[in-house]
Amino acid sequence: MQIDNHVNNVLKQHFGFTSFKKGQQEIIDKILNRNDVLGIMPTGAGKSLCYQVPALVFEGTTIVISPLISLMKDQVDALAQVGARAAFINSSLSREELQSISLRARTGDYKLIYIAPERLELESFRVILETMETALVAVDEAHCISQWGHDFRPSYRKIAAMLAKLPERPPVAAFTATATPQVKNDIINMLNLREPHVLVTGFDRENLYYEVEKPEDKFDYLKNFLNRNSKSSGIIYCSTRKTVDTVSAKLKRIGYPCTSYHAGLSEKERQANQEAFIYDQSPIIVATVAFGMGIDKSNIRYVLHYNMPKTMENYYQEAGRAGRDGEAAQCILLYSPSDIITNKFLIEKGGFYARSDDYRKLQKMINYCHTSGCWRRYILNYFGETYIPEECGYCGNCLNTVNHTDITVEAQKILSCIKRTGERFGSGLVADVLRGAKTKRIKELGFDQLSTFGLLPGHSKSSINEIISHLAARDMIDIKGGQYPVLSLNQSACDWLKSGEKITIKKLIKKDPYIKMEKTEEKKAKSRQKADLELSEERQLLFEKLRLLRKEIAVEQNVPPFVVFSDATLRDICHKLPTSETALLNVSGIGKYKLERYGERFLAVLREHLQKNPGFYPVETE
Ligand code: ADP
Ligand code: MG
Repeated sequence: MQIDNHVNNVLKQHFGFTSFKKGQQEIIDKILNRNDVLGIMPTGAGKSLCYQVPALVFEGTTIVISPLISLMKDQVDALAQVGARAAFINSSLSREELQSISLRARTGDYKLIYIAPERLELESFRVILETMETALVAVDEAHCISQWGHDFRPSYRKIAAMLAKLPERPPVAAFTATATPQVKNDIINMLNLREPHVLVTGFDRENLYYEVEKPEDKFDYLKNFLNRNSKSSGIIYCSTRKTVDTVSAKLKRIGYPCTSYHAGLSEKERQANQEAFIYDQSPIIVATVAFGMGIDKSNIRYVLHYNMPKTMENYYQEAGRAGRDGEAAQCILLYSPSDIITNKFLIEKGGFYARSDDYRKLQKMINYCHTSGCWRRYILNYFGETYIPEECGYCGNCLNTVNHTDITVEAQKILSCIKRTGERFGSGLVADVLRGAKTKRIKELGFDQLSTFGLLPGHSKSSINEIISHLAARDMIDIKGGQYPVLSLNQSACDWLKSGEKITIKKLIKKDPYIKMEKTEEKKAKSRQKADLELSEERQLLFEKLRLLRKEIAVEQNVPPFVVFSDATLRDICHKLPTSETALLNVSGIGKYKLERYGERFLAVLREHLQKNPGFYPVETE
């Protein structure tokens, strides 16, 4: 009871929240009971809060081990904004800073100290640890301990030894978004967790909107997209440096403020461009995948892939950088068949041993682009999520669906033709046989004598290919074998052939993406049972004013704007239209400390806006 009160106080006073996100309360309760925990939660789930709240409740200091020095400053700045004493100790500090921080650390002046794992090996840090009262050790991005994870970091393996040396072993809380069993076991074993409470929340990111577009002209599509989203912050990923340079130059030429990032730029340029993006000076960044590690920017409203990535793993990680703050965000992939060629080239260039696996993964990525089913379902299915909805109802495919075309007969003929030609050929040849093309090769192979020859006379090659891709996306056909992929039938194709069931393809009519986003909001609101209304035009205007004020403050404070207030907080202000300090405290993300710092200035903008726009009422909540 008392603990609960204390926790709720910390949550509201410091962070400005009155409720927890999924899983947070459970984790925090366990930590406060001094249990070890392992939280496996997706990006944006709010993992930091799971250790920051206990850190503020506990006596003593919490050590946070985090892989990226570049993120520590933002995290410590964000904590300072909410009245929590925190520091980082890393190689970016001057000798004087290091000395003064070490001294304060030893006297228990900080509630949280962020370090990179390498620091544990330094004698100077061990001295600090011996004198300090360590309340909790939080291991962020804990998958770095595992070779199976994507960012293996050997120094993470020193953590257990450090824990053993502490005068009294504090509870350990580990967090990651990577959910494979191997990684999970590695974390538990190598950190030496004691009967940890393991919490796995769902993998789904419900605020993300998925879409694959196949535009004739990608740049044209991009231009139209940016026209609608010009003020929001977003990443445009390209597969090569050259494309990054071309796209960003073209965007600049037509007046879009954008910056760029790839390994060919100097360290200094990369640093400057990354900052321009994080600090909202440049809303758009055009980048290769070299960009993104260690980006905690929460207000990224879209991630647009200009090229298809090589695996679903890459895609989900990159697209997942959108919408960390839980507000609606778009993940759009621009696909063209030439992306397949680029990726195959990259695979061929890479090592020999991984190839068959690489091709298999690439094929799954291609299938994603071709599926006419629910994209969210495809993703969740791919990553082995246990609860999978039939249709999410708000990804591009779900929203675009208009009618169904029966392709049962075509599918039967295609499958049969693959079988008859011995499951040794690619889609081009299979399509030719079905269309009845008397090519030299077909005659040589004797396929013009097959019963499946010419069974689909009126069909174009590309329409047959489309059905083949669709059957592959349904896992009925396997497409394997590197540069010249070969089609074969899966068990599910044989089962289906016997079952007599129908197969339909959805005929898509593309709608205006804007309408789709609104519908997304509608569906989301329904699914969350809360009034998450689109901002009306006047409110959008207010939002812009608040955003400008946020940026002004961010410049004064030398912190990224999202550290001052998240997009979610600004939107909540637009909904609630608070006109007093008490009312401002009801806004999500505004606690005592931020109220004191910024309350007056935000109220001033609000009052002025309301005066100029009378007849403007707060949205009823609850
Ligand atoms: P993760 O590390 O899991 O990717 P973060 O800790 O960076 O996620 O948090 C993501 C976003 O969620 C942040 O903008 C944070 O302010 C917000 N957030 C965290 N907890 C809550 C909560 N209880 N209510 C509302 N927003 C929250
Ligand atoms: Mg995190």
